[in-house]
Amino acid sequence: MTSPRVEIDLGKIQANARCLVRRLGDRGISVTGVTKAFCGHPDVAGAMLDGGVVGLADARIKNVVRMRTAGINCPISMIRAPLLSEMEDAIQHCDASYNTELDTIRKLGAAAKKLGASHDVILVAEMGDMREGILPENLNECAAHVIATPGVTLKGIAANFACMGSAAPTGDDMAMLSRLADQVEGACGPFVELVSGGGSANLPWALGEGSTGRVNNLRLGEAILLGTDPVSGKPIDGLHTDTFALFAEVIEARHNPSSMPTKPSPLEYRKLELVSNVGQTNRSILAVGQQDTDASGLKFPSGVGFIGATSDHTVIDTGNANVSVGSEMKIGMDYSALMRAMSAPDVEKVVRHGLSENGVYKESRPRPILKLV
Ligand SMILES: *Cc1c(COP(=O)(O)O)cnc(C)c1O
Repeated sequence: MTSPRVEIDLGKIQANARCLVRRLGDRGISVTGVTKAFCGHPDVAGAMLDGGVVGLADARIKNVVRMRTAGINCPISMIRAPLLSEMEDAIQHCDASYNTELDTIRKLGAAAKKLGASHDVILVAEMGDMREGILPENLNECAAHVIATPGVTLKGIAANFACMGSAAPTGDDMAMLSRLADQVEGACGPFVELVSGGGSANLPWALGEGSTGRVNNLRLGEAILLGTDPVSGKPIDGLHTDTFALFAEVIEARHNPSSMPTKPSPLEYRKLELVSNVGQTNRSILAVGQQDTDASGLKFPSGVGFIGATSDHTVIDTGNANVSVGSEMKIGMDYSALMRAMSAPDVEKVVRHGLSENGVYKESRPRPILKLV
């Protein structure tokens, strides 16, 4: 098998989706599966759908086209505003898009009319993340314009949290989003069927005790894919965190004198595991680099420390472990490392099914070994 590669456990991704769909369903919230971190890989998208998500969403048309070409025909939304240069593709391949600019919405409407198609618009409200969004005081007026625009239908409103910023939404933030939904309907009529509260950062709130108000949808990527909370980085109860693994081959394995000074790693390598130079015995090099993944987001097996990475090499301290050239290391990834690995052309993607017949994930048991007697 080629290296580097990402091995993907579809059964665990499906189980994660199913678990979140059930728990949020109990709270009146539907789940849209966000496919951008895996570039719309059709098998992974399929695992999300098998887990019961109501639809999919991506930020890039190219990923949506990839899923459509593979025969995925569920509702798909664009969660980044379509570019003016890709209006027709957006209309043809997406049922809805998240928008903040009236000019874009008018052009979407014109393209939809031209193609004889319908297209839903979800208006994104700015609620403190300071990425895209319409200021709450302008939302009613904007909604009225969308309603008056031929070719598009206002479907609802949405918010983003912890995308640019790192703050998880509070109960007050979410109550405010519900009030915005009421406010738009009070001014414009019953056009706010969908109130999409945010992404995985909303889960502590959504699975908590407080009222969910009018919020009836979340768009989930990280929680389904990695089983982690993007704000704390911690595993979410009941979800699998070993869904994706990166495999990289060792191309140098050396006993280095501990007196040899190793330069400190640059600060930009966040979350690096600090490894003492004193008594350092083994430094190895993996044939994987920044061009293949975000090396600062790699999670090495215990006892292995990250020293640094360049475009094509990752240097690790393997401590006392005996690592040989040609052997492979299995490495975990955070969301950033996963996203880069899934979009890197030199990283092979290998899917594993791992589902039992009733669709419930079972830990695979070692197969019985046949003995010649
Ligand atoms: C990426 C993205 C999401 C999904 O975020 P996760 O933290 O991966 O759940 C949701 N909404 C928008 C607009 C996004 O860009």
